[in-house]
Amino acid sequence: MMGAGRPRGRASRGRRAPRPAVGVISLGCPKNLVDTEVMLGLLGEAGCALVANPGDADVILVNTCSFIAAAREEAARALEEAIEWKKEGTVKAVVCAGCWPRHELTALHARYPEVDAFMGPGDVPRVVSVVEAALAGKGRERLLSPEPAYLYDDATPRLRATPPWTAYVKIAEGCSHGCAFCVIPRLRGPRRCRPMASVVSEARALADQGVIEVNVVAQDATAYRDPETGEDIADLLGALAHIPGLRWIRLLYAFPTGVTSRLIEVMAEEPTICKYLDLPFQHADREVLRGMGRPGDGEQYLRLIAELRQAMPDIAIRSTFLVGFPGESERAFGQLLAFVEAAQLDRVGAFTFSAEEGTRAAEMPDQVPPEEARERYHRLMSRQQTISLARNQRWVGRTLEVLTERPGAERGEWVGRSFRDAPEIDGTVVIASRRALRPGDLATVKVSGAEPYDLFGTSVD
Ligand code: SF4
Repeated sequence: MMGAGRPRGRASRGRRAPRPAVGVISLGCPKNLVDTEVMLGLLGEAGCALVANPGDADVILVNTCSFIAAAREEAARALEEAIEWKKEGTVKAVVCAGCWPRHELTALHARYPEVDAFMGPGDVPRVVSVVEAALAGKGRERLLSPEPAYLYDDATPRLRATPPWTAYVKIAEGCSHGCAFCVIPRLRGPRRCRPMASVVSEARALADQGVIEVNVVAQDATAYRDPETGEDIADLLGALAHIPGLRWIRLLYAFPTGVTSRLIEVMAEEPTICKYLDLPFQHADREVLRGMGRPGDGEQYLRLIAELRQAMPDIAIRSTFLVGFPGESERAFGQLLAFVEAAQLDRVGAFTFSAEEGTRAAEMPDQVPPEEARERYHRLMSRQQTISLARNQRWVGRTLEVLTERPGAERGEWVGRSFRDAPEIDGTVVIASRRALRPGDLATVKVSGAEPYDLFGTSVD
């Protein structure tokens, strides 16, 4: 549950009636979290009390993810919990927001008669009126915009839910790639980018508020183009790199064929840009990739990895793979395993294929039985564990700058992240420190131990 800070029941400015207390549950990816933060900002500006405890809310808004079946199951659990509070009488209305209503509105409408309003990602700027409609019992009407076109800017009110030292900045919304398995373009619309001036102005304001780490997000960050000037992601990173106060600028979600030599050059040259890249390859077998509607192949991706490591020897590369895509033969999966072996990636995430309604892949022949897909998933991840451990062991004996985030389990122990760890996605660095650290401090840590996900070390400054 997110949102806090205003006293419950506080009246808005002027002569308007007191606004409701709203509690927000945010699910899914950082891009969805930014939508949640904007909704919190708009609700707060309208005078709503934002409460952390669901029992204190008049309205619970669940911002859902619908990327795969597992995400919808998580969303269902959150919605059903909110419905329980409503039945107990503490909560007056429940709003279901985000990708799930956009994806399966009719089914959701029938499944959850207790939900008072549905809204999609394109309806974020209307959140205050949706909450009002829900409370007035008028939200069961279809409140979704026909085409999601919304994109926030630097002037949009936003209440950050992340710790004070770190923030996400969404530079674009939607996606125009149309990968066969992915429902995102249907849910979030075609790609549209924010002007570079707006992104830079937002990042400056964040730095002024004490943020030291900015995580740049978009469905495909490498497709970024300033709508007015045509400047690209390399230009944008170059501009962000010189904002006083920002120490770590991290690029998340790069499309493999969108990484240009110029982007690599800027990343290598600018000390404040993290030598980190989240590069979802999805697969390495050429035929599977063609079936997915994605360009490139394992060999091309290996050349890109070599180019990245030549320019930035310590770069941490994270990737995501999809196993069990229709037509993925044992031979094709073998190609993927061989690729993972050759690529020696630092971190890997994987999904088993989920036939998403409205995608081309859902209708494709040669669907892989789910138990076979799961077995391939386990083979891939167990192979990668050994590789991730070896990549982490390379840091033993070296020093790293670590952003301290919270006390650890033992006395004198802290938990933080290095440039190699994106928040909530990657591992941590567990620090033993004689001096008192504070959350948000940058500490120099000598690494003494490694596990597949985490590093261990001692503060030396
Ligand atoms: S690049 Fe492909 S997988 Fe990623 S959001 Fe776009 S369509 Fe989906």
